[in-house]
Formats: sequence, structure tokens, C-alpha cells
Amino acid sequence: MNRSHRRQPLKTVDRVQFREMCARFAAAEIGPRWRIADRDKKFPREFYVAAARAGLIGITAPESVGGSELGSYEEAIALEEMSKVNPNLAVSILVQNIAGSILYDYGSPEQQDIAREMIAGNLMVAITITEPEAGNDIQNVSTQARRDGDDWVIDGLKSFITLAGECDVLVTLAQTDKSRGRHGMQFFAVDRNSPGVSCSQIETYVNRPAPTYRVQFDNVRVPARRRLDAGFKEIMTGFNRERIMVAARWLGHMQSALDWARGYATTRHQFGRPIGANQSIAFSLAQAHVDVEATRHLTYHAAERYDSEAPLKDVILDVSTAKLLATQAVVRVTQTALHVAGGWGLTEELPAMRLALDAMVAPVTVGSWEIQLRAIARELGLPCD
Ligand SMILES: Cc1cc2nc3c(=O)[nH]c(=O)nc-3n(C[C@H](O)[C@H](O)[C@H](O)COP(=O)(O)OP(=O)(O)OC[C@H]3O[C@@H](n4cnc5c(N)ncnc54)[C@H](O)[C@@H]3O)c2cc1C
Repeated sequence: MNRSHRRQPLKTVDRVQFREMCARFAAAEIGPRWRIADRDKKFPREFYVAAARAGLIGITAPESVGGSELGSYEEAIALEEMSKVNPNLAVSILVQNIAGSILYDYGSPEQQDIAREMIAGNLMVAITITEPEAGNDIQNVSTQARRDGDDWVIDGLKSFITLAGECDVLVTLAQTDKSRGRHGMQFFAVDRNSPGVSCSQIETYVNRPAPTYRVQFDNVRVPARRRLDAGFKEIMTGFNRERIMVAARWLGHMQSALDWARGYATTRHQFGRPIGANQSIAFSLAQAHVDVEATRHLTYHAAERYDSEAPLKDVILDVSTAKLLATQAVVRVTQTALHVAGGWGLTEELPAMRLALDAMVAPVTVGSWEIQLRAIARELGLPCD
């Protein structure tokens, strides 16, 4: 694959039917599971197997590894529909799809076998980039991989690695040649059970059904054939697709929040009439509708552009614009839902606080608000550092 480009869809589906299938899947497989997973902060592995059976892992992957060869448009549909039910079980699929693409787009036949097993639902992977001192600044990754005979030996500490404790393979970014800066980094497909790998869960208020971990690499020996021919540049390409999935994730979530708040505003009575009869409440929900629809249009526009023949550099503006709006709008819409719910919104008897809390991770991951603003400013030709 051309490294400055990206995989394009080879197949198409009836998108209405595909959306209906995703919605049915989400109702059947996420609906009954997410509350327990959220309470226990424990990922239900059987959900992952069900997603694989439904063909929702590797939507854009090549047929040679069991993928569906569809576009990021379809990937966005799947993320949106799943996230309407719960954005955190949905994110587990997002993680597989992005870590998996590093394996099948840049991997050797053996590494592609890992992707094939992942898409079949037999093993899970985690994307292992962030470090305590390298959050948005990925160029600052300091985990080291040094060559020793037929192996590489990895040392370092990663943080915020979603599903690290549940996965089988950590797709891990490490420095192989410090003198080359960001060009001296490569990914390794590290078996999580390798001696020297240890994971400890980070307690969070968000993403609880898909827990996140610190991962310590202590003298971890990885066979040389597990080094991937991909590093900083390739993950930056991948982030564009991931940002579309992220936007779709928050689109689904904000749609749910709006639907719920609209229902509440219609049925909750104060002063002898529905609270939604007050302009202040009705207008806040009308404004939320504008946020949802604007996000929908920008997200699917970005997906269409990403799936097109346009050079990747011409698509970045669309992707970052959609991602920024989605991550801003989901905070606004869920705060509106929380406000509409009044005091009952602060109880566990209504979903409003859960919806608002889950949205709090939106401004942070896969390039924060500021990082998207910087990307947009640069695309506008501003001399922004
Ligand atoms: C629940 C969760 C799951 C995650 N899952 C994964 C995962 O699976 N794999 C993985 O590798 N990572 C994962 N991450 C990491 C996530 O992508 C990082 O948290 C993110 O990159 C932010 O890093 P940080 O928290 O260190 O923030 P920092 O980079 O320290 O940023 C702190 C603040 O400073 C701002 N800032 C930083 N640099 C600039 C700048 N140049 N200009 C303006 N403002 C700036 C940021 O916008 C932010 O507001 C996850 C994080 C969370 C919270």
C-alpha cells in the first residue's frame, strides 16, 4: 500500500440495510451487556466474538485477511449505530479496526495472520502508543526497542492502553533509532503474555466497559519477525480514519442523548405542563438537534472524502473539522440532556449523568480539541506551530 495514501473501498453494500443490520446487532449484543460491563469495569469478550461473527471487525480490511473491503463510510455507520446503544463497547471495535490495519496494511504474512485471527474473533489486539510523557506529543515516545541477535528487546512504560489487559497482542510503537527522531520508530506485534509485560488497570470515570491500562515492558524479547514495517508516519495516516470513526462514535452517542432528553422534556411535567413547553428547554433541545445534524453531515462528508481518490493531504481538513465538531458537540448535547433532567439527572435512576460522563473523553483522545484546531489552522494556511 502507498504509505502516504490509504486503503480504498473495493465493495459496496446497500447502506440502509447495512445500517439496519448494525442497529439490530447493537440492540441484541450491546443492549443487554453494557450496564453490567460499566458497573464491573470489565469487558465482555463474548461481545467481541459476536461482533466478529456479524462481520463488524475489519469492515475496511482486505478480503485476504477476512475483511469486508468496505469504506470508512460503512465503518462510520457501524460505529454510529453501536454507539447509540453504548459508545464504550463500540470503542472496542474501533480499537481492533485501527490496530488491525497496521497489521494487515504493513505486516508480513505472519503479521497478517494475526489480523486474520483478529477479524475472525479469535484474538484481540490493542493499539499501544501513548506514554506518561507522550500523550498528544507522540514524537516523544521513549519506549526503546534494541536489537539483540534474532530478537528485539523492548523496555518502557505505556499508559491509557484500551483493552491491554484483555487483548492477546499489543501493537506497540517503540523507538528503534533515537537519532532519527520520529522516523526512528516502529511498531511491534508483542504477545501480551510475553515475559516482562505487565498490565495494571487505570480506574476511570469513562470508557468503563472497555478498560484502559498502564503497560510495563521490562526487557521484553520479541522475535525480529514481529517488527512491523510501519511507524510514526503510518499511524498518522491511520489516525485520519480513526478520527472519522471517533466522530461517528460521538454522533451516535449525542443522538441517543438528544432522543432521551426530548422524551423526558415531553413527559416530565412542572407547573402543570411539560417542561418542554418552556422555550428555554425547547430551544436548548432545538440547538442540540442542530449540533447532531451538523455533526452527521460533516462526519459522512469526511468519510466520503476519505474513501475518494483525493490525496490524503486534501482530506485532512475535512477529517479534523468533523472530528472537532463531533467532540465539541457531544459535550454540549449531553450537558443539555443532563440539565433537562434536573435533580433526577444526578441520580442513577436516569441515564443523563452516564451519558454526560461518557462524553467527557471526547475532547481528549486521538488528537485533542487543540490538536484538531492546530491541524485545521495549518490546512487554512496559517503559520501555526
Ligand atoms: C479512556 C482513554 C482511552 C485511551 N486509549 C488509548 C489507546 O488505546 N491507545 C493509546 O495509545 N492511547 C490511548 N489513550 C490516550 C489518549 O489518546 C491520550 O490521552 C491523548 O493523546 C492525550 O494525552 P495526555 O492525556 O497525556 O494529554 P496531554 O498531551 O498532556 O495534553 C494535556 C492538555 O494539553 C493540551 N495540549 C497538548 N499539546 C498541546 C499543543 N501543542 N497545543 C495546545 N494544547 C496542547 C491538550 O489538548 C490537553 O488539553 C486513551 C486515553 C483515554 C483517556
